[in-house]
Amino acid sequence: MRIAMIGGGYVGLVSGACFAEFGTDVVIVEADHDKLAALRAGSIPIYEPGLDKIVSANTAAGRLAFTDDLAGVIDSVDAVFIAVGTPTRRGDGHADLTYVYEATRQIARHASKGLLVVTKSTVPVGTGREVARILREERPELAFSVASNPEFLREGNAIGDFMRPDRVIIGIDDSAPDQGAHASALMRQLYRPLYLIETPIVMTGLETAELTKYAANAFLAMKVTFINEMADLCEAVGGNIHDVARGMGLDQRIGRKFLHAGPGYGGSCFPKDTRALTAIARDAGAPSRLVEATVAINEDRKSAMAERVIALCDGTVRGKTIAILGLTFKPDTDDMREASSLPLIHRLIGEGAHIKAFDPEGMRAARPLLPEAVIYASSAQEAATEADALVVLTEWNEFRAIAPAKLKAAMRGTAIADFRNIWDPAALRDAGFTYRSIGRP
Ligand code: NAD
Repeated sequence: MRIAMIGGGYVGLVSGACFAEFGTDVVIVEADHDKLAALRAGSIPIYEPGLDKIVSANTAAGRLAFTDDLAGVIDSVDAVFIAVGTPTRRGDGHADLTYVYEATRQIARHASKGLLVVTKSTVPVGTGREVARILREERPELAFSVASNPEFLREGNAIGDFMRPDRVIIGIDDSAPDQGAHASALMRQLYRPLYLIETPIVMTGLETAELTKYAANAFLAMKVTFINEMADLCEAVGGNIHDVARGMGLDQRIGRKFLHAGPGYGGSCFPKDTRALTAIARDAGAPSRLVEATVAINEDRKSAMAERVIALCDGTVRGKTIAILGLTFKPDTDDMREASSLPLIHRLIGEGAHIKAFDPEGMRAARPLLPEAVIYASSAQEAATEADALVVLTEWNEFRAIAPAKLKAAMRGTAIADFRNIWDPAALRDAGFTYRSIGRP
């Protein structure tokens, strides 16, 4: 079996490489020439643990290749996956489907036989039908089949998530039964290695598959937002959010994951997918008020983090140097999309602070998104040196191990805002810091 993957970003590259690892021949079609050149030269344009090994092994084995020429490969493949970006459209919160429909038209233009076309991008309900309509309209003589196969991998653990997922969702357009049966058979064949490890495979219609992805992301975003509100309540009444989260999470109906209080969710998925779901639901006349509240609370929370830092600095940051540890939206990625660090740093600089930042992997991606005045340090220790205050924004493991005494020796001031609760409050206070974390006494 041979497939093409349009889009060599986080999802296209990881899933393409993993399908190759399963034994399928994969050609990744990437339009960005710099990315393509890097991939062809054997370097990985994103930071994702383990990805380099799996890409190089499968490239060497001849199962994984990269091109920008869809026309040159389309006749040799059984299926084309669309894994392009679906960012928020300006103005109304809907997903911008420009790249998805452009990829669809490219498939229609270049195909000379009917193919299975699969949306792997996160796309609103109705997109799969529209993809099918475009294909029919552009090439009525060819029998295309369409499937939706949303991706649930998490950046930072993407390979493990793809190879051992909790489930695979496959939505099939069964409006033409023969094509539907063909699509199901191909998708089952592609995921055969996961059948062997008894991964639940949920076969549904197109709309259900599309909605399942948004529902799952919105639920997780809601869970994070819920624990963030409980953390604020802990601060107000003197509780400890770690114990509350543990006590809640041990209930198997709730589960322990995604109960970590922090500075508000960011990243390339939760913010845009929650916004898109509220737009889809409003348009469908079935508004999702829980998700709408989640979006609004999270936005407020991200802005409120700057107030916490300012309060910790005795009401003003003007002229003060603030060390920021962690810029990416979570550890083990270089992804800066909608990271909490962005509004925080912009605001602090607007208030007259000097920022010294360090992130193990995210500084290259952060530079174009942050004010020029930000100084980038080469280590956490260097960022802390002579700082009046320090803020932890991403829970990279290497930050957890920093000894309070070393920080104390490096810093000028004593204020620490740990927005990821990575340090022990007692140890930090014993070392002489004014330490504030989230939802803990
Ligand atoms: P990305 O921006 O990292 O990658 C998209 C890639 O597609 C880019 O490299 C772009 O150059 C390329 N591209 C766009 N149009 C093209 C075309 N016509 N031909 C060839 N290449 C083209 O995006 P991503 O993070 O991989 O996300 C892709 C989709 O997967 C989105 O819908 C996203 O919501 C979804 N998703 C992302 C994650 C994640 O963790 N990043 C997880 C699950 C689902």
